[in-house]
Amino acid sequence: MKKEFVVIGLGRFGGSICRELTKLGMSVLAIDKNEDLVNEYSNIVTHAVVGDSTDETILKSLGIRNFDHVIVAIGNDIQASILTTLILKELGVKIVTSKALNDYHEKVLRKIGADQVVHPERDMGKRIAHNLVSSNVLDYLELSDKYSIVEIAVNEAIAGYAIAQLDIRAKYGINIVAIKRHHDIIVSPQATEVIQNGDILIVIGSDTDINRFEIKML
Ligand code: ADP
Repeated sequence: MKKEFVVIGLGRFGGSICRELTKLGMSVLAIDKNEDLVNEYSNIVTHAVVGDSTDETILKSLGIRNFDHVIVAIGNDIQASILTTLILKELGVKIVTSKALNDYHEKVLRKIGADQVVHPERDMGKRIAHNLVSSNVLDYLELSDKYSIVEIAVNEAIAGYAIAQLDIRAKYGINIVAIKRHHDIIVSPQATEVIQNGDILIVIGSDTDINRFEIKML
């Protein structure tokens, strides 16, 4: 289903969101106060307009509350990011995702009603750190401050054994949610499933347990 998005702020982050949403076939209205950026994006997104998002009348005149989802991708101007998020929620926008620069910014955004707060630099830093420690860790998704889902490439230490033989749940406290094998994905694998070289395991668990498992896979 084609959804209608608004992206406010066309810096590196907002710009990348605009491109990807458009590639996914979504309708995107892009807003930035910088005219050059708006011109640059006018050929990429559905509509691009010059405007200051801290000006309530501009947002109202664009009919902002009729859109499905608004992304506040304002970078360094924390004040503008907070004010924009506040106005959007006051105007009744259903889903607002805002980008936070630091933990204090995130706390305020949540307090004033942002439905989702993203922290791309911090999250990407975490992902990259896990990948630096172990080249087997391909991706890392934080579920909360204690739990994550991680994609781990299988090494010789566990290839050739059935899940039950490895006793991963009892030994490490983590669960294998799925196994990626060539172009297939085995969701909720049986305990009898034999892990093969080249498999990618998608595991869920607490960070401490996952870290112990990552170290075994070094
Ligand atoms: P990034 O780290 O994603 O590159 P930037 O801070 O460089 O972030 O970019 C943020 C964008 O948001 C800039 O293009 C800036 O013009 C835009 N912006 C900042 N404040 C407002 C505002 N009040 N209204 C509209 N656009 C804004």
